[in-house]
Amino acid sequence: MKVYVDGKYYNEREAKVSVFDHGLLYGDGIFEGIRAYNGRVFRLREHIDRLFYSAKAILLNIPMSRSEMMRAVVETCRKNRIRDGYIRLLVTRGIGTLGLNPKRCKNPSVIIIADKIQLYPPALYQRGMEIITVPTVRNLHSAVNPAIKSLNYLNNILAKIEANNAGCEEAVMLNANGYVAECTGDNLFIVKKGQVLTPPLSAGALYGITRQVVIELAEKASLPVAEPDLTRYDLFNADECFLTGTGAEIVPVVKIDGRVIGNGKPGPITRKLTAAYHALTKVSGEPIYE
Ligand code: PMP
Repeated sequence: MKVYVDGKYYNEREAKVSVFDHGLLYGDGIFEGIRAYNGRVFRLREHIDRLFYSAKAILLNIPMSRSEMMRAVVETCRKNRIRDGYIRLLVTRGIGTLGLNPKRCKNPSVIIIADKIQLYPPALYQRGMEIITVPTVRNLHSAVNPAIKSLNYLNNILAKIEANNAGCEEAVMLNANGYVAECTGDNLFIVKKGQVLTPPLSAGALYGITRQVVIELAEKASLPVAEPDLTRYDLFNADECFLTGTGAEIVPVVKIDGRVIGNGKPGPITRKLTAAYHALTKVSGEPIYE
């Protein structure tokens, strides 16, 4: 595997960062997780835009333009002969001192890894997932805004550990007001009386790219979509529930905090949107090999 680090390609074992990189010392940096399907990078422009928005929010100057970054991602896929894969793009604050001061970090580092995708087992998509609400609440907007896809994922990791301890793969995270925000690495949707509902981004969610694609697919299928504040009660009494994310795609949820959702099987609207999503990923995206 060839890994892109600051404009050069290194073999996997030689691709390294300094122990003085503030990405490592303080989680001071940002990232994206991107998928390639069928020789195309899916929603590349949207991922690069979100990366630049995250950078702006943390006052990090990415040392490349958006189009240079898009080209670097595509080139890294090409070098690794990726047709279907997962791309991890990171920008760290760069090498500094042991002190916090980001001013000491003169050159942000850009790293691009194009690898195979690790998926949940297919049976989970057929049967549906059981999830639970966890005690760790989502970061406040006024602290570290959850819209920033930062290298400091401890908030999410703590919630994931709590879910794992309870035997679940994913956790519902509430915000400080008790409303549903999202899961640790996925956005959350419910279906109620034919309506597709997902918490507003202001509830403390990442501006999910899969979330946006699913909203567009639902609208195309003439399904009403809304973004109301949702409580756990709303989740328990949903007809269907599913999660969305670049890595996991669309995951049906059949049990939340011990309550069976709908009839306990992945619902018809979830299945319809999943089929539409798969159809779209096959044909859409930035070509790698043309
Ligand atoms: N929420 C969080 C916290 C995430 O880390 C992610 C991405 N893994 C998502 C939602 C889903 O976002 P996207 O669809 O852009 O991958």
